[in-house]
Amino acid sequence: MGRELVSLTCLLLISALLTWIGVSARGGSSFSLLWPANAVLVGILLRYYPRAGLVHLLVALLGFLLVDACYGTPWRKSLLLNGANILTVAIAWLSLRRQGLGPEGLISATAIPRLMLRCQPAILAGALCGGAAVVWLGSSTGWKSTIMWYLAELINFSVLLPSLLTLPGSWRQCRREMWRDRRYLVPALLFLLLVLLLDKHLGGPGLLVLPVPALIWLALSGNRFFTCLATCAASLYMFTVLDDQLLYQWSKDAATVYSFRTGISILALSAITTACAVAERDQLFARLQQVASHDHLTGVLNRGAFSEATEQRLAREGGGLLLLDVDFFKKINDEHGHPTGDTVLVQLCQRLEELLPPRALLGRMGGEEFAVLLAPGEESELADQADRLIQGVADRPLAQAMRVTISGGLRQAAPGESLSELLADADLALYRAKQAGRNRWCRAT
Ligand code: GH3
Ligand code: MG
Ligand code: MG
Repeated sequence: MGRELVSLTCLLLISALLTWIGVSARGGSSFSLLWPANAVLVGILLRYYPRAGLVHLLVALLGFLLVDACYGTPWRKSLLLNGANILTVAIAWLSLRRQGLGPEGLISATAIPRLMLRCQPAILAGALCGGAAVVWLGSSTGWKSTIMWYLAELINFSVLLPSLLTLPGSWRQCRREMWRDRRYLVPALLFLLLVLLLDKHLGGPGLLVLPVPALIWLALSGNRFFTCLATCAASLYMFTVLDDQLLYQWSKDAATVYSFRTGISILALSAITTACAVAERDQLFARLQQVASHDHLTGVLNRGAFSEATEQRLAREGGGLLLLDVDFFKKINDEHGHPTGDTVLVQLCQRLEELLPPRALLGRMGGEEFAVLLAPGEESELADQADRLIQGVADRPLAQAMRVTISGGLRQAAPGESLSELLADADLALYRAKQAGRNRWCRAT
């Protein structure tokens, strides 16, 4: 109960703060140039209030009304306009709440177009009610207001909602992403700053495309949140500064303003959609890389990936190559069936990974044969590590209560020695270990 009260109070404060931003941007007109409250509230409800309901919507509405009351907005106007606002929030929240949206969600080229399509009924309903409210309040600009309301919300939902939905889960993650994507982030930020400095001198309709290179550059990083943030900054800048100029200086023509606002939202959506598509491609690529480099059954490195990593490390620093083979594995297959044999291989790899010293690499060379690359060390150190692996497998049965043993061949390598040479020598040593009775290892001579 106490926690619920705290979370509702937070929601009230957030709603009031957002309304305050909107009302402050209203200036002398009855409409706000900037009304972030609806889109941000939808994002917050979806991300942080999984069990939101009617009470949460009423609390958000209360936040709207309280701030309006503080500004002395007539109650009829406040009720009508905020009624349209909360309607937008409610419809958008209802149509999105079961979509599983969150940082893991918007990873697909079609995610943003689908998100925006789902928001359309909410934005349209809000704009129609807002337009009707304006007429009711005595203005004759009903359709004009509806279109302006619609386009303003289109921008808000295009930039603010995806920002909230892709917000990293923690500050630590945010810092990690900043560091990872710094080569995209830093130039994009510098470019956006340059735009801010240039715009005073340039002017004209070309200003609209000035932030585009920074947005595309960021979108190519696949970092959806930072692309959203930059898009927010660029749109906010254009929406407030330029829209203002457009409205009061460049032209009194409504069509120009509509076109300008549509342009901003298309620009924002294009950048964010590109970032989502790149994120999807990166994720697919990472999955492909994982599949291409790991053994399908045991999950350890496959022969190709192990060889590549080992060759690189051998060239640099040498090490110890330990070739391992399961003893009498054919018997396990014959007596317990092939699926049990598979499980034994999986559990054996888990055991080996528990026993492996730091920096060691484990790979499946084929069948029931594995290889371990040990970090360079004294002969006795490598011997201890080989003992530990072979005894560690034999001492305790695997999770399936199956006792297995392994034999090994160890070959120490100086920097620059080739892997094929080491494998041939380790294989001979392994053969000797088998001959000597198994469950042991031999050193290559
Ligand atoms: P030794 O102690 O001399 O190594 O005897 P062994 O029975 O382990 O050796 P052998 O080479 O005769 O048999 C290896 C068996 O491993 C034969 C093959 O069917 C089986 N095997 C290879 N790959 C897999 C696999 O992925 N799953 C299962 N279940 N068996 C496999
Ligand atoms: Mg074997
Ligand atoms: Mg074998």
